[in-house]
Amino acid sequence: MDHIAELKPRQVPRIETRYRRIVTPIPAPETLAVLEALWRYEPVALRGQPPVVWDRAEGFQVFDKAGNCWIDWSSGVLITNVGHGRPEIIEAIRQQISRPLLATFGFASEVRARLVERLVKLLPPPLEKVFLFSTGSEAVECAIKFARTYGIRKGGKRKHVIVSFLQAFHGRTLGAQQAGGFPELKEWIVNLDPGFVQVPFPDGYWVDDVSFDFFLHCLDELGVKPEDVAAVLMETYQGATACFAPRQYVQELRTWCNEHDVLLIFDEIQAGFGRTGKLFAFEHYEVVPDLATFGKGLSGALPQSACAGRADVLDLHPPLSMTNTHAGNPVCCAATLANLDVIEREGLVERSAQLGMVLHRRLAGLKERFPHIGFVAGKGLVAGVHCVVPGAKKPDGVLAREVVWRSMEKGVLMFAPVGYGGATIKICPPLVIPEDALVESLDAFEEAFEEAVKSREQGR
Ligand code: PLP
Repeated sequence: MDHIAELKPRQVPRIETRYRRIVTPIPAPETLAVLEALWRYEPVALRGQPPVVWDRAEGFQVFDKAGNCWIDWSSGVLITNVGHGRPEIIEAIRQQISRPLLATFGFASEVRARLVERLVKLLPPPLEKVFLFSTGSEAVECAIKFARTYGIRKGGKRKHVIVSFLQAFHGRTLGAQQAGGFPELKEWIVNLDPGFVQVPFPDGYWVDDVSFDFFLHCLDELGVKPEDVAAVLMETYQGATACFAPRQYVQELRTWCNEHDVLLIFDEIQAGFGRTGKLFAFEHYEVVPDLATFGKGLSGALPQSACAGRADVLDLHPPLSMTNTHAGNPVCCAATLANLDVIEREGLVERSAQLGMVLHRRLAGLKERFPHIGFVAGKGLVAGVHCVVPGAKKPDGVLAREVVWRSMEKGVLMFAPVGYGGATIKICPPLVIPEDALVESLDAFEEAFEEAVKSREQGR
């Protein structure tokens, strides 16, 4: 679909159910001026999401000004685990701004002290220090910086290599992007740092060999010796696919890291705070990292990220050497504390595990029905539905996009497909979604899938 066509409203059947309401053409004509302004004044790189203009979002629903209402399966890209617009978070923000205390830079504040203490108490040892930032990419950059500092202090300059995984996503800043696993996203860097290498992620579909020996073999092929490695950086599940690595693989990786004094870093930016049915997704592996990065669901709303780690690693840089203007912003800290309260009080981690069973059972049925689904991955309330050409292990990004757009027209909102060939449909509703709304949205998704398959077959 070309971009101009995307801004042309399309007549769609009217939908009015308990949880969804689509009563205008899509995109809604009265929201077009907003979309056009964004297209005019923002770079092209920011386009590409389904054309819904969010006016307000509450709980598991998103509303526009034209009277349409969606069941949200995006959580604003995995931010609002606790639901959109939580009154508890709004109240915490209100109290903080009316104190008033809006910014402190690196000066101390009580709310920042409360937050870092709370986080360390939630984390298992040896994760006993926390660095706060605003974005996930910054937290990843921090982890890279400390890992390299640790490596070269332990093994000299040689021990600087960061090993990560193909198809990984860790952010779009210079270091985080180089640690990522999509070569096409790195062309602009030109002088790639040879100290970043990637090996295949053991997803069990695109990569058949899920043994840890294969990890060692790939490192060897890349000419990297264990003594060269400062850290292995891994998303606890791959954002691009929602795939977890086998538990045994990660346990062997942990042992190998211990043997060679290599830091193990889990990027939990997308996976943390209940999304997968555990507070931290690394609990699924029964392994604790040396460093971990958090973002998104950590605050449930405002820009807040963190890099947690071993004290002997995070204390390597001296006072005043790592200032960051907005890190530990008091309003964001207050919102984050309120978010953590909600997760705990409402048992959202357990809820994610329970509803995840409903979600994954249904998606397994869908996979049986449609050969266009290569596999379904994920745990708890995150799933990746991988669209393929039937009978071939070939991603079908056109189908994935068609499914997402048709779902939007039926009142189920997802972000644009991600991953290899743009063929992974990600499903990640707020953890507070009622079970009947989840089932209703799955029904609509199945209808959209069926229609998209028909239209794809006709177009082929
Ligand atoms: N790491 C992972 C696993 C992510 O999913 C993301 C964002 O999607 C990032 C890092 C980067 O976070 P941010 O966009 O806040 O910089």
